[in-house]
Amino acid sequence: MIKLLALIALLVPVVVGAEPLRVFVSVPPLKTVVDKIGGKHVLVQAMVRPGFNPHTYNPTPHQIAALSDAALYVRTGVPFEHAWMERIRSANRKMRILDASAGNEPPGREEKGHDHDEAMDVTGTDRGREGKATMERDPHVWTSPPLVREMAGRIRDKLAELDPENEEDYARNHKAFVVELDALDREIRSLLARTLDRNIMVFHPAWGHFADTYGLVQVAIENEGKEPGPRALAALIEQAKRQQVKVIFVQPQFSQKSAEQVARAIGGRVVAIDPLSPDYADNLRRVARTIAEANGR
Ligand code: ZN
Repeated sequence: MIKLLALIALLVPVVVGAEPLRVFVSVPPLKTVVDKIGGKHVLVQAMVRPGFNPHTYNPTPHQIAALSDAALYVRTGVPFEHAWMERIRSANRKMRILDASAGNEPPGREEKGHDHDEAMDVTGTDRGREGKATMERDPHVWTSPPLVREMAGRIRDKLAELDPENEEDYARNHKAFVVELDALDREIRSLLARTLDRNIMVFHPAWGHFADTYGLVQVAIENEGKEPGPRALAALIEQAKRQQVKVIFVQPQFSQKSAEQVARAIGGRVVAIDPLSPDYADNLRRVARTIAEANGR
């Protein structure tokens, strides 16, 4: 017993010193990224809980209260953050805010603080049908492993700044994560290399960065978050026929009604892929495999 007490006495200061950094992130895939780099030194929560839609999410009072213990909030500029960022900020003025999508702005534009929120707000809801044209400001940055690689460097630096004692661990974890990301990137590239058809039709345009990274073209069915009207739907069906689309990709947080209508009209099928899966790497692999199978190789 005395031995045990002595052991506890020895351990207690260590445990106190090892209090993890509390980190909030906007969406579940980012939790995986911060966990990879922070390891045992961080306790990460995603603001948008699994299954919820980041375009319309409302943080719970419990989540807002929990921000008071957080050292860091990692944002991506997903739409709920435009409405909520000021409240998130004022819940804990000492909490640092890291924009994971920094470097994702169009060149030559410095956007900081408030201006940033507003600039992102305008463009976040005003996305073109072809994700590519407006891609610089697409908030779904985590769908591209090379962009996650950039983001990972910024997260490592921020964690080291907030917790310099564990800087070496963050650097080591980051290195290992980059090796994983590069392998994932190569794997997706080879899966999609011989894909004949470069067009992918999706309901919600969450795959713009993925498409851009791997030379695909994303065509979205929705119009600013809403189902298309009859005329827009007819045009999409024409386009899908012309481009010989076989698969319409949907995600569980959005309606599948018009995707099913297009699929019926072209004799194709609807396949669910989830850009918000916390199982980041396996999910992207599955997406690449599904696109490769659907688009012929
Ligand atoms: Zn989205």
